[in-house]
Amino acid sequence: MSLPIDPPAAPPLDGAGFPARAVVDLAAIRGNVRTLRERASGAEVLAVVKADAYGHGLVPSARAAVEGGATWLGVAQASEALALRAGGIGPDDARLLTWLHAPGVDFAALLESDVDVSVAASWAVDDVVAAARSTGRTARVHLKVDTGLGRNGVMADDLDSVLPALLEAEAEGVLRLVGLWSHLALADEPGHPSVRAQRVVFEDVLDRAEHAGARLEVRHLANSAATVTAPELHYDLVRPGLAVYGMSPVPQLASSRELGLVPAMTVEASLATVKRVRAGQGVSYAHLYTTTQDTVLGVVPLGYGDGIPRHASGGAAGPGGPVLVGHDDAARVVRVAGRVCMDQVVLDLGPDTTERAGDTVRLFGVDEPLAAGGTAPTAQDWADAASTISYEITTRLGARIPRVHIDTEGLAPSTEHA
Ligand SMILES: *Cc1c(COP(=O)(O)O)cnc(C)c1O
Repeated sequence: MSLPIDPPAAPPLDGAGFPARAVVDLAAIRGNVRTLRERASGAEVLAVVKADAYGHGLVPSARAAVEGGATWLGVAQASEALALRAGGIGPDDARLLTWLHAPGVDFAALLESDVDVSVAASWAVDDVVAAARSTGRTARVHLKVDTGLGRNGVMADDLDSVLPALLEAEAEGVLRLVGLWSHLALADEPGHPSVRAQRVVFEDVLDRAEHAGARLEVRHLANSAATVTAPELHYDLVRPGLAVYGMSPVPQLASSRELGLVPAMTVEASLATVKRVRAGQGVSYAHLYTTTQDTVLGVVPLGYGDGIPRHASGGAAGPGGPVLVGHDDAARVVRVAGRVCMDQVVLDLGPDTTERAGDTVRLFGVDEPLAAGGTAPTAQDWADAASTISYEITTRLGARIPRVHIDTEGLAPSTEHA
């Protein structure tokens, strides 16, 4: 038998002296939520702030989303909802919904903190009812229905396994069934037949629930992609996550700029080493990349230990992740040369570079046009280089990288360290 061991308390990383940072512009988050509200055809906006607000910092991002007009916030985990309340986001600031529970979840703590809870199985109905009785709080419940995603939620065919119990508990005054909701499998492919099929099932489930006596306050189905592409899916509440942070949920159709969204996060680092090498120099582990001329290498002190995807290594098999070096008219994009290591990546800066150790380079941020042509790299460009999605690029960013929150709205930009 293995015994749990209490780890010694480690001081939190405060980022002091760390040669890289993720700068998060709260004004961008605020502005993106305003834009999404305009797109939401009168539906309320629930800003999804799960997974540390997709890596952007939970509480500052949530606060900015509320300032931008989100009346609801959504998280996957109970612990995230409690962290928001502990961080000062009160019931008067935003309704809070949490949706991914396993048996043992402390529903009582959620009810005490005025959090709406999703129910996706009959065990959860029993546990919410018990928590409501023990706390004396009326639970606000959203019934999650699987309309075709094939993931969390009660299968539409099995509605009768949970709905009667919910309505009975409602009649007793133990809970309020305030919401009925679902999630789409292919919202990022507008017009895909599965989107239409899920909508048909959703409408049917709504009809059945309302016939059975449900008096729903909010029906909700749309993530970011459906919010920006499918008004018929907005219902009473839309649940954008990715778009709140300024990334395009449909990159094959429209860039964030074309959608009027501004990427909130910029990841930048100071070059640790800049040095001359000869032609034929293998670069980084396994020598995936070899210099073709006498050139200058720059070492960037960020690697997969910081969440930089190793799949964005650069070599014969394909170009690595893009990095912006230089400033103003001299700004240009250079690709990662060779393997992404745990703590560092290497750039081939070219023989004529003027870069020096200590100069700042940018891995991704706003897709501003460059004087030399092209645009500055984005999280989407890194996703493309690593064959993944932009969600993963910001969300997996390591805790070692300090998040620096700035606010470029208003007269005097203020800075705050999370
Ligand atoms: C994560 C999540 C969202 C937000 O999705 P985006 O594609 O980031 O907009 C919405 N609803 C549910 C249930 C989710 O899990």
